[in-house]
Amino acid sequence: MNSPAIIVLTEASLTIAHQIQAALPAAVIYGLAHRTPSLACTYDNFGETVREFFQAGRPIIGLCAAGILIRTLAPLIRDKGQEPPVLAIATDGSAVVPLLGGVQGVNELARQIAEALQVAPAITTTGDLRFGTALLSPPPGYQLVNPENAKTFIAELLAGAEVQLKGEAAWLTNSQLPISPTGKLTLQIETAQQSADQLTAKPAAPDCLVYRFDPQRVEQALHSQESRSQGSRGNLAILGIGPGAAAWMSAEVKERLKFATDWVGYQTYLNLVEPLRPAHTRRYASDNRCELERAEFALDLAAQGGNVALISSGDPGIYAMAAAVFEVLEQKAKPAWESIEIQVCPGISAMQAAAAQVGAPLGHDFCVISLSDILKPWEVIAQRITAAAQADFAIAFYNPVSKDRSWQLDKARELLLPWRSADTPTLLAHNLGREGQRVVITTLGQLKSTDADMRTVIVIGSSQTRIMSQGQGQQWVYTPRHYRNRVPPQPDIH
Ligand code: SAH
Repeated sequence: MNSPAIIVLTEASLTIAHQIQAALPAAVIYGLAHRTPSLACTYDNFGETVREFFQAGRPIIGLCAAGILIRTLAPLIRDKGQEPPVLAIATDGSAVVPLLGGVQGVNELARQIAEALQVAPAITTTGDLRFGTALLSPPPGYQLVNPENAKTFIAELLAGAEVQLKGEAAWLTNSQLPISPTGKLTLQIETAQQSADQLTAKPAAPDCLVYRFDPQRVEQALHSQESRSQGSRGNLAILGIGPGAAAWMSAEVKERLKFATDWVGYQTYLNLVEPLRPAHTRRYASDNRCELERAEFALDLAAQGGNVALISSGDPGIYAMAAAVFEVLEQKAKPAWESIEIQVCPGISAMQAAAAQVGAPLGHDFCVISLSDILKPWEVIAQRITAAAQADFAIAFYNPVSKDRSWQLDKARELLLPWRSADTPTLLAHNLGREGQRVVITTLGQLKSTDADMRTVIVIGSSQTRIMSQGQGQQWVYTPRHYRNRVPPQPDIH
């Protein structure tokens, strides 16, 4: 299951939100930005945020009126089989109302939340109530193959039809379903192998529900439950997947991705490696901002015995999750985290991938500066840019611009120009290793913030960096191994 989003509108709902989060450690609490100043993860637009989560398949737990959620999601409600669980919770915790996502286990989630809040869940699906089982969300290891038949099937069941069971499944035999060998309806259990053989066979009759049973999946589910309840020693691998392309990912990282029980990370990065995700691996996607919450969540999962992969792009130690993990580890210091085995697995950082595209602009001393003034004041950034210019470092700029930060790159260029020639070779590398990769060689004088976005890394040469041609039109940028400039750069006073 994707990481559930608990959505609150005011600080007053936070006590209940935290009670829910305690029962669902994977969940992240999001609050309306100007009303919940104490929260790390906030949103400005309720409708857009909820719709975005819904489309990303994240369970939505709204501490708000059911009507608000219904109106917000109405335009998106289409495919019953695909929709994630959506629940409305009364802001005082007195009611837990599952609204959508029966196939994805909304009733089960409602029961879990209701238990945490010590109330009765408002389960409204009659079949679930009367037969003591949820045909739409079977237990681990079972998958309903033809959910499109469920509506008619359950209607007939509720109208009194009996059901015959083909195959074996204790969760069905032990339910209150009216099982009879002459039943008009059929519940059929088949193994994963049988289903594979029958893939081309005709679809099941309308009065039949087919469940595919995969013993491997049960084993995996039981194994992870068991290791969690025994509190066995979990581990956390903080992985750098490189800029994007699988060829730029280390063998160690690939291996750790393959053996993890849980993947945690920003959804864009999880999507990049999704083709490598084994069927049994759970995926917890979050948005880009809540790094510390994500780190804490990954540590908690590992403390329960999980084999957790926390996924960063590029290198995990460069403006990424590794530092966030150690920060939370030190500050929160939960006793349960003491025995977790932590490993940081390096990746190719954006600047290395960018440099490799054009030659060797980082061939001599260089430094790296993030232009984001979200986590540090602009004055510090400005002072570092000037110091780097004075010291004649080649410079890699990360986070050059974003939707809300448009002027910083132009300002950085302004700070560099008194110290460095306008002809200094400069590199703009966009979407490295991903679709739409674009690498442009320009000069410092030509650099404009409108040429960059949040997926661009910029490399500014030093006074020694050169552009050269090889053969017919092949251009290279490099910084020589020897430093020949004996006089430090002087400010250019025009
Ligand atoms: N840990 C990452 C950096 C994360 S900070 C790493 O080592 O690469 C995010 C910034 O990294 C972006 O704003 C951009 O400047 C740079 N970046 C990350 N991936 C990139 C890519 N595929 N192409 C170009 N720049 C990238």
